[in-house]
Amino acid sequence: MSTSDSVYQQCISSSCGDTFAIGEALVACDQCGDLLDVVYDWNRLPLPSSLKEFEQKWSQRGDPLNFSGVWRFRQLLPFATPEKIITIGEGQTLLQRADRVARHIGLSAGRLFLQYEGMNPSGSFKDNGMSAAFTHAHSIGAQRAACASTGNTSASLAMYCAVTGLMKGVVFIGSGKIAYGKLSQALDCGALTVQITGDFDDAMARVKEISQKLGIYLVNSVNPFRLEGQKTIIYRILESLDWEIPDWIVVPGGNLGNSSAFGKAFSELKELGLIDRVPRMAVINAAGADTLYQLYDRRSLRWKNGDADMCIARDYYQELDAQNQKAETIASAIEINRPVNLKKCIRALEFCDGVVRRVSDQEILDAKAQVGAGGLGCEPASAASVAGAKLLIEEGIMGSDERVVCILTGHQLKDPTATVAYHTTDQEQFDRVLGQRGVQRASFANRAVVVPNDVEEIVKAIQLYS
Ligand SMILES: *Cc1c(COP(=O)(O)O)cnc(C)c1O
Ligand SMILES: [Zn+2]
Repeated sequence: MSTSDSVYQQCISSSCGDTFAIGEALVACDQCGDLLDVVYDWNRLPLPSSLKEFEQKWSQRGDPLNFSGVWRFRQLLPFATPEKIITIGEGQTLLQRADRVARHIGLSAGRLFLQYEGMNPSGSFKDNGMSAAFTHAHSIGAQRAACASTGNTSASLAMYCAVTGLMKGVVFIGSGKIAYGKLSQALDCGALTVQITGDFDDAMARVKEISQKLGIYLVNSVNPFRLEGQKTIIYRILESLDWEIPDWIVVPGGNLGNSSAFGKAFSELKELGLIDRVPRMAVINAAGADTLYQLYDRRSLRWKNGDADMCIARDYYQELDAQNQKAETIASAIEINRPVNLKKCIRALEFCDGVVRRVSDQEILDAKAQVGAGGLGCEPASAASVAGAKLLIEEGIMGSDERVVCILTGHQLKDPTATVAYHTTDQEQFDRVLGQRGVQRASFANRAVVVPNDVEEIVKAIQLYS
């Protein structure tokens, strides 16, 4: 990079800290292989004097950059020139006050808010990051973009390719583990879909090699620009709370891109004096894919100013391999054992005084049913945040009067198979989809009522059940 650059990429390792120009497409440090950050020299960039100033953008929403829930905050992710920015209308999301769900998890009325990212164009929060990665890819002239995906990243990439017509998308998925809603999106939007034998962790390893070999732009969350877009989830939450800081942010943990991005967002806002306090963060793993929990909570892996002892993680991965242990959960979006953003996440956990918990598939599906019954609904992985908040309240770590924001990462319709199996009366279907994963009961099932095709019988049934 040149010393005159006010935006650059930097290795997060304290012992390396090498820097790279913004125009380079990298997913790791050239020197040491560690993750990269996008770094800004804020002194040389125009900034708002308060977060409230962003509200003015609402009166100019005829401009697509101000309509976008990502790019109206572009002063806080100023890596692209406005002409190069790609938006398909992402980030029109809602922070829903959810009193019924609050009651279920033990929070007082008015204290639980669900940040519903299912309202994004492709139905998950991934669009926030994709519009940023796509913008970077486009600014450096990329023709093809690839990702490995448990489903939502591929749906998002496929949609950005289809809507903009700027790039050809190549998506790698593991065998058999993708929810149909997501697979249908990748296929429908015309992405080249490569299904490999193996799971997400295998697909991730292959796509890294292949994108390097063929010079294809990689949009997984190892891409530091992805996380720049995902910071805006936090800006929108704060905006919805009239710029007040909640007590907790609770987020499901898969590849740990979101939790990492949230930590960066808060740390930058604090550095810039735009907020005076930081919420605590809880990252929730599924019990069948609980690497972060094992490393952070059980083995005390800590950031330590960039000097984290990553041998703890390496040893753990070797144990997983020795036992041939694969990630396994109904929450397929977080069915990941080797989270690529692990190190950034432990940095975020340190900054936000974080905690990590794990929840069972049973707890996830019961929480999901509550979200459906009292809110906008969500896919299984998203409900891990609500199940995790419930657990933290039971443990007394989260207070029942604290203000809590749970991120609902993906849309209710992403994985109808899991939802229908939960509510079904068909024991065979329940066992096949859920029973195998240790789910024993559907505590909040809303079962269809079977009635003969007869007016009187139907009337009787409605009177009985309503
Ligand atoms: C990708 C995804 C996650 C995991 O997010 P990370 O940033 O990888 O931790 C959780 N939920 C849904 C619905 C997702 O698509
Ligand atoms: Zn480095």
